[in-house]
Amino acid sequence: MEAWELPVCLNLYLSKLNLVKGLDNLNEHQIIKEYFSDVGSAYLAEHGIRVSVGDDAAVLSPPKGKESVISVDTSIEGVHFLKAMNASDIAYRSVSVALSDLAACGATPSWFTLALSLEDYDPIWLSGFRRGLEDISSELKIPLIGGDTTKGNLSITVQVGGYVEKGKALTRKGAKVGDLIYLTGTIGEASSALESIKKDNLVDLKKSRYLRPKIRFGVSNKLKGIASSAIDVSDGLFQDLNHICTASKVGANVYLEKIPTFLSKSLSSEEMNKGDDYEILFTSDKTNKEKIEGISKQEKIPICEIGLIIKGYEVQIITPEGDFLKASSGFQHF
Ligand code: ADP
Ligand code: MG
Repeated sequence: MEAWELPVCLNLYLSKLNLVKGLDNLNEHQIIKEYFSDVGSAYLAEHGIRVSVGDDAAVLSPPKGKESVISVDTSIEGVHFLKAMNASDIAYRSVSVALSDLAACGATPSWFTLALSLEDYDPIWLSGFRRGLEDISSELKIPLIGGDTTKGNLSITVQVGGYVEKGKALTRKGAKVGDLIYLTGTIGEASSALESIKKDNLVDLKKSRYLRPKIRFGVSNKLKGIASSAIDVSDGLFQDLNHICTASKVGANVYLEKIPTFLSKSLSSEEMNKGDDYEILFTSDKTNKEKIEGISKQEKIPICEIGLIIKGYEVQIITPEGDFLKASSGFQHF
């Protein structure tokens, strides 16, 4: 017998049953309980968070002598991640890229929230997504303290919060003529991983630099009082350096051959400017050279000197032959 042949009241009864029990119809509150409660709840107390997911709002006490640092980032399919990626990598990456802004400020991360818009209820996808949230949460020992869950095109907004000693936050403003320009890690690996993901539609561990960016909290924490300005490299090395120049009202000379690329590949200036690197780009007075070398050794992260802050207002790229290149624009959102 087909459903339409059943009496109307029985049909209504069955659909109601399905609404409660059927996995297709879990309501928003059940989804929140199942997938977003207790992510990193073991770390709530140590971050002074008294009320978290499940109440109207989170309640937290900031540590004495510190300032709050807050940032938010939205990740959209096809722009910030690809459908071919595992839900766990999508979750990890969305939180990680948001945290990168805290590292750029020299802040220690403390919590995150998640505003999620989902196309439908897919328990397998959501379980994977929760695993990715748990991975980053336990790696950095930070809890998920709230959010919002709605139906719509897949969109992931992550807000992150952390703390920094009063007055010590690193900003884009503060680079001075004569300062050296430094970069952590290497450039180009994530954008080349992204290209191969797009090409072969395979998502494997070798592409982890794109899938699961590691944020340089160890280094950035030690740069307070040493860096005169800092930014994270998200939209492209030269574009992000340009942000420092604009905010600090200075110019920059960068030397192409000094820029550390992954596996020492020879990349064009366009390829170096593709973004997604999530390294820290900073400036510092010449007298801090040894301290910076020390931080690099302690944290086991290469930190390379790539240029010099000069008078002016723009970024100039200098080739090994001594020619000047104008920086191409990096990733453009619009
Ligand atoms: P309200 O209607 O009061 O805004 P919600 O039903 O939206 O409450 O959320 C209930 C609780 O679940 C809140 O504590 C909220 O922060 C949390 N929450 C909702 N969605 C998410 C999510 N995607 N991740 C984490 N917490 C969430
Ligand atoms: Mg809400």
